[in-house]
Amino acid sequence: MTTPELDDHRRPTYEDIHVMIGNAAKKIVEEFKPDLMVAIGGGGFFPARVLRTFLKRRDEKTGKQRNLPIQAIGLSLYEQVDGMSEEMIGTQVVRTQWLEFGAPKASGAGDEVAARYGKDSGGLVGNNVLIVDEVDDSRTTLHYAYNELLKDVRATLDSIPADVRADLPPTRFAIFVVQNKLGPKRAELPIYNSPADEKIVDGVADGVYYYAGETTPPVWIDYPWEMQDITEHNRLSALAKARNQQAN
Ligand code: 5GP
Repeated sequence: MTTPELDDHRRPTYEDIHVMIGNAAKKIVEEFKPDLMVAIGGGGFFPARVLRTFLKRRDEKTGKQRNLPIQAIGLSLYEQVDGMSEEMIGTQVVRTQWLEFGAPKASGAGDEVAARYGKDSGGLVGNNVLIVDEVDDSRTTLHYAYNELLKDVRATLDSIPADVRADLPPTRFAIFVVQNKLGPKRAELPIYNSPADEKIVDGVADGVYYYAGETTPPVWIDYPWEMQDITEHNRLSALAKARNQQAN
């Protein structure tokens, strides 16, 4: 068999990704304690499902281990979407799917109150919301997702009478990506350096927790779920690892 020319793509295997997610989950549980996930489709779906395995929570009432709900949103930056002009591709985010309103609720209090008073933001109010995607490249997609979810939550809170709103638990946001690519970002996020930075303003945290499985050089990453030939993907991944070991 011939040895193929290795390009500079990064090729994490399913197992590499699983291990990275498991490691990141420890800090996420300790620091943020998510109530639900919002997965950005399609790249965030697989990581969110794996992460859920590590984020089981004990139900206060039954004492049983409970899975976190996963909500899905669809955002498109790189792909052509109907009705999108050429200039918009790569610079603008287009919604292809958004939160399901009236969806199964996470922890309770805020959602029930929000539902009673009108506006629903897909069960986010009063919860610790973890946004999940596979990669943070230019940050445009994550910036859009965070800001739009925040807007929905603020609109819900505005629809609740002030005295009722005051008794709600705060809504907090975090982001998890498998890989954060080093390089210029096109958008900024108000990332907390430490939990001590967090301030709750009008019922919502004033910034966002940020977790990455790993930080990588700005090269293209081939994800296993994008591959038709997974055996070849794994073979090239092993080859690259062997070469790196030899070089070090
Ligand atoms: P953004 O530039 O907004 O941070 O990333 C937008 C989207 O581009 C990601 O959700 C992902 O679908 C795609 N993307 C960016 N960099 C990579 C990469 O290295 N590999 C793959 N497969 N997709 C990427």
